[in-house]
Amino acid sequence: MVLAIDSATGLIADVRQVLSPHFDARPAGAVPELLVIHGISLPPGEFGGPWIDRLFTGTLPWEAHPYFMEIKGLCASAHALIRRDGQIVQYVPFGERAWHAGKSQYGGRSACNDFSIGVELEGTDDTPYTDAQYEQLIALTVALLAAYPSISEDAIVGHSDIAPGRKTDPGPSFDWSRYRTQLATMRQ
Ligand SMILES: [Zn+2]
Repeated sequence: MVLAIDSATGLIADVRQVLSPHFDARPAGAVPELLVIHGISLPPGEFGGPWIDRLFTGTLPWEAHPYFMEIKGLCASAHALIRRDGQIVQYVPFGERAWHAGKSQYGGRSACNDFSIGVELEGTDDTPYTDAQYEQLIALTVALLAAYPSISEDAIVGHSDIAPGRKTDPGPSFDWSRYRTQLATMRQ
């Protein structure tokens, strides 16, 4: 799998685009310097369905599930999602600021949304992510590192790393060693 990102538009070629209104401009001069990996499922532990798209596009029917009522009013997005079957969905162009990290800190800097790209994996902290997800995440990472040389291979973290005590995703179920080893192999 080879993915192409147009750095002028910030879009991945030939993937499903569901453009979200939940974004704004990065601060003047800010470029992507960090890749943040997340895990999400809606409702938690359930896979498939339209709910992640609906949350990120601001059209989640809060009354449709008790968990949705718990997050009622949440205005969030990520740049992209990788579903259980490996399908990639893009919500926000990479040059724009998606709303994925919240209160966060990396290398002494706060507000990580300003200078990061957020990629969600559909999953939970304790369900192994799928082979298709690793394959696509690695392909996407290779494409992102090529399109945005301002991101170094060391600057790839989990949401839990930049918001410890507040966020746990992508969780122990994400195999960092597998991801980093395969990524290094792909980039040789
Ligand atoms: Zn997260």
